[in-house]
Amino acid sequence: MTSFTDILCPTPQGLYCPPGDFFIDPTRPSPRAVVTHGHSDHARAGHGSVLATAETLAIMGARYGEAFTPARQAARYGEKHRIGDATVWLSPAGHVLGSAQAVIEAHGRRIVVSGDYKRRPDPTCAPFEPVPCDVFVTEATFGLPVFRHPDDGKEVAKVLHTLELFPERCVLVGAYALGKAQRIIALFRRAGHDAPIYLHGALEKLCGLYTSLGVELGDLRLAKDADKVELMGRIVMAPPSALGDRWSRRLPEPVTAFASGWMRVRARARQGGIELPLVISDHADWDELTATLTELSPQEVWVTHGREDALVHWAGLNGLKAKPLHLAGYDEEGGEGPEGDGLKPPEAA
Ligand SMILES: [Zn+2]
Ligand SMILES: [Zn+2]
Repeated sequence: MTSFTDILCPTPQGLYCPPGDFFIDPTRPSPRAVVTHGHSDHARAGHGSVLATAETLAIMGARYGEAFTPARQAARYGEKHRIGDATVWLSPAGHVLGSAQAVIEAHGRRIVVSGDYKRRPDPTCAPFEPVPCDVFVTEATFGLPVFRHPDDGKEVAKVLHTLELFPERCVLVGAYALGKAQRIIALFRRAGHDAPIYLHGALEKLCGLYTSLGVELGDLRLAKDADKVELMGRIVMAPPSALGDRWSRRLPEPVTAFASGWMRVRARARQGGIELPLVISDHADWDELTATLTELSPQEVWVTHGREDALVHWAGLNGLKAKPLHLAGYDEEGGEGPEGDGLKPPEAA
């Protein structure tokens, strides 16, 4: 009888599947990789081959150059691929455009690696699909009961309300370059805001890629091409690292907002100089994590990264066998900066 770790086991460079001789989201260059999504801590350059969704491959190409791997293999959701003695397929994870759970079948067992995921609707990507499995490998970025993400429509409404109150200012919204920025823009559009939205140059490429892949983002312009008067009463989007730097000085009295699940922690918002914290995350909150485990009720739950202990404890109390994997190398929000959110760590702030 094979054990689950004969099918998938944690190694220093990530989860390894011996029957298929491949890694999932390896943190070091590996001969064969299955990549769940385009965030830089999961999708790295230099693998011998990469199997991922076409969108994830396009994102990797945009970020690393088209030579990021000599062999790319695009997989549609649900399409089965035989690799060695394993069968692999991808299922939507609801995290960012192209994000997928990796489903691995071997020796009559099925293990699902979620990558990163969320359960609430996101206009920029396909919704998470629960896949029945023997082992579910979950993240736990927000794996503490304190993390309950509010309705995202109410969060973006705060920005629109601020623009009405201060028409001579602008709202500068910090958001991760991949996924979050595009989702926030789509949420503004859904809320009826069809004015131009101005971008920091660092967001231009991925917003353009999303648009070319069919995600409607409306009228986007570069902030550097606009003067102060034109930016009054407008939304300006920037990566978190640009919020406090020289770049923002040319904006008309910006109200600084930041969209992250971490904005639930008020002290964190204050330390980052954030006036308008927006609790919007591309990761499952505590309720989504626990509801997913209950729904799937796998024989075993493995927790890759984040707040593993609380989720493992909760699983045990609820009759699920769970263990932390303590995988190193995965940031909490896409490897976009220190502390996982691109804000300065408290000591430095
Ligand atoms: Zn991650
Ligand atoms: Zn991610």
